[in-house]
Amino acid sequence: MVIVMKPTASEESIQNMVSKIENLHCKVHISQGENYCILGIIGETSKINADQIEAYDSVEKVIYVQHSFKLASRLFHPEDTIVTVDNVKIGGGNLGIMAGPCAVESEDQLLTIAKLVKESGANLLRGGAYKPRTSPYSFQGMEEEGLKLLKKAKEATGLPIVTEVMDTETYDIVAKYADIVQIGARNMQNFPLLKKVGKGTVPVLLKRGLAATIEELLMAAEYIMSEGNQNVILCERGIRTFETYTRNTLDLSAVLAVKELSHLPIIVDPSHASGKWAMVEPLSKAAIAVGADGLEIEVHNNPEQAVSDGAQSLKPGKFDHLMKSVRTIAEITDKKI
Ligand code: PEP
Ligand code: MN
Repeated sequence: MVIVMKPTASEESIQNMVSKIENLHCKVHISQGENYCILGIIGETSKINADQIEAYDSVEKVIYVQHSFKLASRLFHPEDTIVTVDNVKIGGGNLGIMAGPCAVESEDQLLTIAKLVKESGANLLRGGAYKPRTSPYSFQGMEEEGLKLLKKAKEATGLPIVTEVMDTETYDIVAKYADIVQIGARNMQNFPLLKKVGKGTVPVLLKRGLAATIEELLMAAEYIMSEGNQNVILCERGIRTFETYTRNTLDLSAVLAVKELSHLPIIVDPSHASGKWAMVEPLSKAAIAVGADGLEIEVHNNPEQAVSDGAQSLKPGKFDHLMKSVRTIAEITDKKI
């Protein structure tokens, strides 16, 4: 952390600031330029409240050198984290391909899709039993019945289950069935929910909020990790921009930024990012090419009749085609599926 004092700051105000920081058990390195006096703070700066420092008349600004996330930071954990779910590894050169319907609708629908995505090479099954819908009048999910069907699909295919948890009240029931609990974009800053999944042992798929910065995404991961659960997978699923042609704007540079800043795996969801099935395969190839650790893709055997997100869902044959081209990119980039 660096404190830039105003050119008008008196010697006394500078000394007062130095004492204040030293009382918080940090060291201060004073660098006096022609106009500005700059205080370099060394030590455990998390105890320093930058807002309070900036409230002083003598202070120009406070600049962070380190990020506020620590457990999620690559600085403190240089090697890639690998999240292991059953025998599937995600991160550190291993791709997690999560495929399945937006929502669990029936046994027939789920089992049909699960078997087909498995045949095509997906290694995890996604499906929502509790659905965050924009309208309260839309289908809200099959709830525990849906979770039971996911369990059946796992028994039939061996694919571990990724499913969304929407609130703290239903965490225990979802965690009983899920191999990975998903925190949806709308809940990325639901802090009680982040703390709840952080206290649990089930790995977490944390999706980027609709208008969240990369730093906010990493701070949300920090919430989970600071409670004990280190198995966090991040997901770029498109953000809100002025563009309306696609459902969201896929921010592929977020994958590169997260790789620089953090050791956590990051996957891409091209289905919610684009909202258009025809864009899903090309965006998946691009995501793997830039270094994403996997994909989350909506697949439906009858998208024309899907209760949610039909327009962005791939038919199983199209998913099979996607897997073939993704495998080619994976080979070139030295990744394992
Ligand atoms: C989903 O994956 O079904 C979903 C609702 O995604 P998001 O939270 O990214 O909108
Ligand atoms: Mn969906």
